[in-house]
Amino acid sequence: MSEKMKGLKCKECERLYPTEAIHVCEYCFGPLEVDYNYDFIKRSLTHGKIESGPHTLWRYWDLLPVKTDNVISIHEGMTPLFHARRLGKELGLSNLFIKNDAVNPTYSFKDRVVSVALSRARELGFDTVACASTGNLAGAVSAYGAAAGFRTFVFMPADLELGKVIGAGIYDPVIVGVRGNYDEVNRLCAEVADMYKWAFVNVNLRPYYSEGSKTLGFEVAEQLGWRAPDHCVVPAASGSLLTKIHKGFKELEMLGLIPKHKTRMSVAQADGCAPVVTAIREKTDIVRPVRPKTIAKSLAIGNPADGPYAARIVQDTHGGADTATDAEIVDGIRLLARTEGIFSETAGGVTTAVLKKLARTGIISSDELVVAFITGNGFKTIEAVAGRTSPMQEISPNLDEFKELYDRVSTAPVRP
Ligand SMILES: *Cc1c(COP(=O)(O)O)cnc(C)c1O
Ligand SMILES: [Zn+2]
Repeated sequence: MSEKMKGLKCKECERLYPTEAIHVCEYCFGPLEVDYNYDFIKRSLTHGKIESGPHTLWRYWDLLPVKTDNVISIHEGMTPLFHARRLGKELGLSNLFIKNDAVNPTYSFKDRVVSVALSRARELGFDTVACASTGNLAGAVSAYGAAAGFRTFVFMPADLELGKVIGAGIYDPVIVGVRGNYDEVNRLCAEVADMYKWAFVNVNLRPYYSEGSKTLGFEVAEQLGWRAPDHCVVPAASGSLLTKIHKGFKELEMLGLIPKHKTRMSVAQADGCAPVVTAIREKTDIVRPVRPKTIAKSLAIGNPADGPYAARIVQDTHGGADTATDAEIVDGIRLLARTEGIFSETAGGVTTAVLKKLARTGIISSDELVVAFITGNGFKTIEAVAGRTSPMQEISPNLDEFKELYDRVSTAPVRP
């Protein structure tokens, strides 16, 4: 029925493979990527067709790696993009936009990749789905697994935030808490994936899974009135999100759906886990693994699979690369909340803190149309800001006590 997918193609040696549940090249061990038939897609894809589609990321079905129309969706995507005037004013950026992906069904951008991966898993005939997660992916796989009736196993480091554990557990998956860091979880999952015939969304289904992140690029371009922004600031864990947002713009350009434009891609990582930023600082695309130590647990991947590609895109597009310490991450979360009313998780704190640094150092210029990607919700990582928020002022149900409180707080400084 559909001819949009030609096959899978090795990103390194370009060898072709069938569209199965495989992810590495047998010859050079490079990652496999979906190879589309753009000539075929171009014949029917128009702004009008996209705009009249569902109010989810599935409006971009023609550019997503599934054949079925019967996709697994719980209304992911089409999240708000808005002009962040108060934060922009504070940072000296007149054209700052926030893409708020913290309001997806399971409160992170991972709903995008999982909706695509599980739709593909079902059409490939799998009955069990699984993932190696830094937290948010486990929640998304658990929710979509429940909604589609899969048997679900999620693997995560055993020391994750309660919001991530409960946020996955509520959907009744098997949660495997591994005593180790993400890179160790991932290594174990590669072995499990070899042994059991499961759809591991970010292992054997990775070529399909990762395509879901392109929809962030598609949406931003559509929401800007069919144009790419000048500059994007994107947090990186495996580096996949950054590379795919960029790919999203390139595909729309190639199909004639947006004008040609050179979008600069900047990367944000935590100080305690910055292998991609380090590579860029050293002007290389060789990413040396690190042992993560940061409160931004959703970004704590020390050996990022797509790190070299992300580093190359940042360098090729003349983007910036910077990091945030734990204290700066907390300040970043508070800054975004105080200026724009958005409560982000630690990854959003990293993005906001790095955005601030890139603005201050002039890497982002004051009138560039810049989009900062907020990828996860603050209610998942309340531990990070506990003790750093307005305290509760407890009183008896009595007007005199309130007046006393009022006198006390009304002498406190007003917000800027
Ligand atoms: C997974 C994740 C990222 C990074 O995604 P990669 O594609 O692995 O780089 C960013 N933010 C949040 C909140 C995440 O959960
Ligand atoms: Zn190859």
